[in-house]
Amino acid sequence: MPSAATARVPKARPAKPLKPVTAKKETAAPRRERNCSVARTLDIVSDAWAFLIIREAFFGTQTFETFRSALGIPRATLTDRLRKLTQLAIFRQVAIAGSQRKEYRLTRMGFDLYPSFIALMQFGDGWLADGKKPPLTLVHVNCGCESHPLVACSHCGERINARDVKFRDGPGAGRHPAKVGRNTRRASDGNRFTLGRPSSVSRALQIIGDKWSFMVVREAFFGNRRYDRIQTELAIAPNILTDRLSRLVANGIFVRRLYQRSPDRYEYLLTDMGRDLYGPFVAMLRWGDRWLSAGKPPLLLEHVTCGHDFHASVICDQCKQPISAAEMRYKLTYDPKAFGALGPRSVS
Ligand SMILES: [Zn+2]
Ligand SMILES: [Zn+2]
Repeated sequence: MPSAATARVPKARPAKPLKPVTAKKETAAPRRERNCSVARTLDIVSDAWAFLIIREAFFGTQTFETFRSALGIPRATLTDRLRKLTQLAIFRQVAIAGSQRKEYRLTRMGFDLYPSFIALMQFGDGWLADGKKPPLTLVHVNCGCESHPLVACSHCGERINARDVKFRDGPGAGRHPAKVGRNTRRASDGNRFTLGRPSSVSRALQIIGDKWSFMVVREAFFGNRRYDRIQTELAIAPNILTDRLSRLVANGIFVRRLYQRSPDRYEYLLTDMGRDLYGPFVAMLRWGDRWLSAGKPPLLLEHVTCGHDFHASVICDQCKQPISAAEMRYKLTYDPKAFGALGPRSVS
């Protein structure tokens, strides 16, 4: 007879994930995870090297050697990540006429990650700059203004707050078998995000770039705040959940509150800082919906303020137009030589 622990294994045999070969502490029963466009996006950008390579590409880097020297990344690792990102259609390879060399250029799908990066950057600038000036100042070419982009409703153009959004299942809603080995993903390479240039995006990903951490924050946006509920929803191993929750509390994303005595039970409430992750959250959701959901978004969002369904639109706070990588320039507020890195295309 199946025990309670195995009861959630689906009957359909081909979909059943294999057990990891190596016995690790952080394993749990095979489980099914919610279809989620944010999770799909994070599968790509939560790899620290992949994230850094994409960021360098936004700064205009295109060749193997310039990626390598900007990031100090081992050759084999760079080869591997460029191959994967090309397979994922984030990059396309372009042969250089009269040369053996190839360039890696962002595809439309790759460029479209830019608003998500900027949403993360705004979060990092706001909460993680330690009172210092943000490392980069953005200048929006279209309006000529110094820009502080914000995540807005695609229908009414107003800033999106977590409290003003209702969500419901979309055509792609459902669950799929969790990938083998995902449960063992570690949070430990967070420091790698800060290699190379000082960046508010890196600082933000240092906290939430580990996919489990962001999944826990996602559950909070769904209103799931109690340990047991989050654990059931994510089917996450208790030791991983405990670890991620204590990191998120230490980083100021959640506060912990006792809601029941003997046995003691806690719930986790988003702080103002945690709630401010909603912008990056819906920006990544939009990207995943657009490029990875085959036209069937798992989740539909309604902006209560205007009463319409919407998607996240990252807009310039000055001219209110959606931003794109090609229309943004940067002013550095740090000395790139101090970091041994290439400077971005500067406006001055
Ligand atoms: Zn609206
Ligand atoms: Zn503008």
